[in-house]
Amino acid sequence: MADVERVVIIGSGPAGHTAAIYTARANLAPIMFEGFSAGGIPGGQLMTTTEVENYPGFPDGIQGPELMETFRKQSLRFDTRIFTEDVTKVDLNTKPFTVVSSERTVKASALIISTGATAKRLNLPGEQRLWNKGMSACAVCDGALPIFRNKALVVVGGGDSACEESTFLTKFASKVYLVHRRDQLRASKIMQERVFKNPKIEVIWNTVVEDVLGNDVVSAVRLKDVKTNATRDLPCGGLFYAIGFTPNTDLFKGQLQMDGLGYLITKPDSTLTSVPGVFACGDVQDKKYRQAVTAAGSGCMAALDCERWLLDRGLSD
Ligand code: NAP
Repeated sequence: MADVERVVIIGSGPAGHTAAIYTARANLAPIMFEGFSAGGIPGGQLMTTTEVENYPGFPDGIQGPELMETFRKQSLRFDTRIFTEDVTKVDLNTKPFTVVSSERTVKASALIISTGATAKRLNLPGEQRLWNKGMSACAVCDGALPIFRNKALVVVGGGDSACEESTFLTKFASKVYLVHRRDQLRASKIMQERVFKNPKIEVIWNTVVEDVLGNDVVSAVRLKDVKTNATRDLPCGGLFYAIGFTPNTDLFKGQLQMDGLGYLITKPDSTLTSVPGVFACGDVQDKKYRQAVTAAGSGCMAALDCERWLLDRGLSD
């Protein structure tokens, strides 16, 4: 390994691998850390999805983990060095930057951060058993799958995601129940209006989901009215979480500028963070689109921004 690497990429979802493919093809010999802890498993959120039907180039759809395997193969084909190790510490205050993993310490001129975000879950008793069997944290990714067609579906949450996903699901579902723990939605007015106007959506107020039921697939949810404490089982064919995301940015606290929710802030129309030479792409800096294809697109942007930055400073050789 060189004394100082040109570029280190932290994170191995669509954003990280696209950044790897581009920087490798620009002869920057990238190193990638694919960790376990923050995102659950290497490969990011697609690793916990089943069929992906909206990634262009796969007209018959592709399984999430298989798609990530193709990304990884493409990174390796151009000699990206991939370390399956959690990054435990970074120092962005001194140049070159320092990246410490469970196994090694690497110095780098530039850093691309693509650590993603983790969809929050309720951790219901039946969740582990029924995950991907009628349960999902991404309606846009999974809602069109046959398992959800013409079924009553339940969405939990009260923000923009919950409203957007409920509205989206009405294209496939026979009915959508939006279950919210309070008597008011947090979502923007326009999103709320879409929900209230949609005859297929029924909002169930002041209610929490206590469990998800079913043998092989989801068949009902157990609801509790928080005002009366009354519980009931609501038959349904699917349960979608839309209770927010946690960006995987703990490593960078105090070193990079973040918004109030912990997302990395990038300069408009770029992937530049508050520290020159550090670039961010994918869901770690995007709370709006959050799609595999938008993450991949921003990974390409980060690689191009990084390449130019290194070139301008004579650091690309
Ligand atoms: P959010 O605004 O944080 O909303 C999360 C919702 O889930 C809240 O209504 C919250 O209830 C509920 N919730 C959280 N934990 C819960 C729990 N344990 N049990 C039950 N309910 C729980 O998250 P989001 O909707 O994903 O939006 C995140 C950000 O992305 C926002 O800034 C949003 O505007 C943005 N966004 C934008 C778009 C768009 O522009 N198209 C689309 C999606 C998201 P309470 O209300 O009671 O706290």
